[in-house]
Amino acid sequence: MILTITMNPSIDISYPLETFKLDTVNRVKEVRKTAGGKGLNVTRILKQLDAEVIASGLIGGFLGEEIKKDLDQTRIAHDFLPISGETRNCIAILHEGQQTEILESGPVISEEEASAFLEHFGKLAAKADIISFSGSLPEGLPIDFYSQMLQVCQPKPVVLDCSGAALTAVLKEDVKPKLIKPNTEELAGLLGRSVLNDVEELKAVLSEPMFTGIEWIVVSMGGDGAFAKHFDKFYRVTIPKIEVVNPVGSGDATVAGLTAAIEAGLSDEAVLKQGNVLGMLNAQEATTGHVNLANYQILFDQINIEEIG
Ligand code: ATP
Repeated sequence: MILTITMNPSIDISYPLETFKLDTVNRVKEVRKTAGGKGLNVTRILKQLDAEVIASGLIGGFLGEEIKKDLDQTRIAHDFLPISGETRNCIAILHEGQQTEILESGPVISEEEASAFLEHFGKLAAKADIISFSGSLPEGLPIDFYSQMLQVCQPKPVVLDCSGAALTAVLKEDVKPKLIKPNTEELAGLLGRSVLNDVEELKAVLSEPMFTGIEWIVVSMGGDGAFAKHFDKFYRVTIPKIEVVNPVGSGDATVAGLTAAIEAGLSDEAVLKQGNVLGMLNAQEATTGHVNLANYQILFDQINIEEIG
């Protein structure tokens, strides 16, 4: 079983508008509302892959109930810890080819809720083969909360996709995730400088002491594919050009593909191909977290994995 963790889920609302007018009324005809948050995107992709998956995290209030209903409708198993705060809305206004976002920061978690979650998580983790942690931590949780969760679920493998201070905090601790998937911007954030899309530079960067002890590092590079390190092996992943409809959430789809492939014990080449195929399939669809698996094999066969000596 794969356990996915979303600590700060949301109801994602999209408002398509022909023109967005400030300081007056904007009326919206086609509103789309979905259960969101990076971990739930990962969950939806895993469900489409027919993986056995349970979604967990923190959920509260009326919108928390809506998320549970949405997951029930799509037959996704879930076991969230209820909290007293209200789960957030995240609004995307799509107008004139642009996207204006209004993101609520979400509930503030109390110390009691934090320790109750660690207990709840520990029980679920004991039943899982692999666990993914995705996205930001809600307010109130200490910045090393993912490290605390890593301690609790030892020795279960964890795929971690987060950024900024939460990721830096994990890298400083002794208990390591099995895989991290920074994109180039997140990698630059960790290093405090930009990184060239150059194999020698990427090899040197991923060999830096801050990454010691992490088995897999997959740097996703959007339309340029990925660069990866597995133990002491380095791989350049070259992907074909595709028609992109909406690349939002492609990183989450990649995390789903990598996680399922690792759970299945696939080869390095197959793990990297599956991760990239799912990112590409997500980018080819309008709906985040939705993929058309009919195109899986065609893309899989066009990906080139080169081991860098
Ligand atoms: P997000 O934060 O939106 O989930 P991300 O920045 O974490 O995304 P990306 O590097 O953009 O992740 O995308 C993950 C993978 O999806 C890429 O490695 C690639 O395989 C595929 N992908 C993403 N964007 C494109 C694109 N424009 N063309 C082809 N493939 C893409």
